Amino acid sequence: MIVDNLKEVEARINAACERAHRDPSEVTLIAVSKTKPVSDIEQVLSTSVRDFGENKVQELTSKYEVLPKDLRWHMIGHLQRNKVKYIVDKVVLIHSVDSLRLAQQISEEAVKHDVHVNILIEVNVADESTKFGTTSDACIALIQEVAKLPGITIKGLMTIAPFVDNPEDNRIHFRNLKQLFVDINSKNIDNVNMSVLSMGMTGDYEVAIEEGATMVRVGTGIFGERTYHV
Ligand SMILES: *Cc1c(COP(=O)(O)O)cnc(C)c1O
Repeated sequence: MIVDNLKEVEARINAACERAHRDPSEVTLIAVSKTKPVSDIEQVLSTSVRDFGENKVQELTSKYEVLPKDLRWHMIGHLQRNKVKYIVDKVVLIHSVDSLRLAQQISEEAVKHDVHVNILIEVNVADESTKFGTTSDACIALIQEVAKLPGITIKGLMTIAPFVDNPEDNRIHFRNLKQLFVDINSKNIDNVNMSVLSMGMTGDYEVAIEEGATMVRVGTGIFGERTYHV
C-alpha cells in the first residue's frame, strides 16, 4: 500500500518534470513521515527513497536512533531554539529557519558540535497570519545577516503554501518564490549560492515542480491520512 502510493507519487513527479522539460534527477522526494510509525518508514526502505521529513524534534531523534544510519533526515517543522542542540548532528537540512535568533542558535550549536549545518529560509509566501516564515520583503535582509554566521550554509528557500482545493491557486506563490530565489542569487551575497527550492506537498507538488521545486515534501500521498493534524 505505502510502496504503491510511493510509486504513484514518483510517476506523477516524472510526468510533471516532463511537462516542464526538467530532468527528474533535479527533484528530491522527501517522504514526510511525521506521526507515522517506524514500521511505515521501513516499508519505504524497500524502495530507493532515503529522504524523510519530520516536524518534531523528539519524534525525529527517536526515529533516528532506531533506523539505519544512511537515512537523510529533514527538519521541516517550526524549531524552538532550546531544541536545536538535539538535531544539529542528525539532520541533512533544516527547512524552517525564519529568524536571525534561530539561525544564531543553529550556528552556535554547529560550532560546538564541530558540524556544518545546511539550512533553508522559510518564506511565508501568502503572508498568512497562521504561518511561520519570513515575509518575501524581509527575506533578503535576513539572508544577508545569516550568511555571516559560522558553521551554517543557506542552501535555499522553503515555503508551505496555503491550503487550497485547487492546486492551481498556489501556482502564483510557487512562481513568486522561484523569482525571489533567482533575485537573491543574482545579488551575489557573500557565502550565498542557493540551489534548493523546497515547495509542494501532497495537494500541490506537481504544480510546484512545474514552477521549479527541487524538493517536494509529501506525507499523506505516501503514508495516507494522519490521524491527528500537526
Ligand atoms: C506535514 C507537512 C508536509 C506534508 O504534508 P502532506 O499534505 O501530508 O503531504 C509537508 N511540509 C511540511 C512543512 C509539513 O509540516
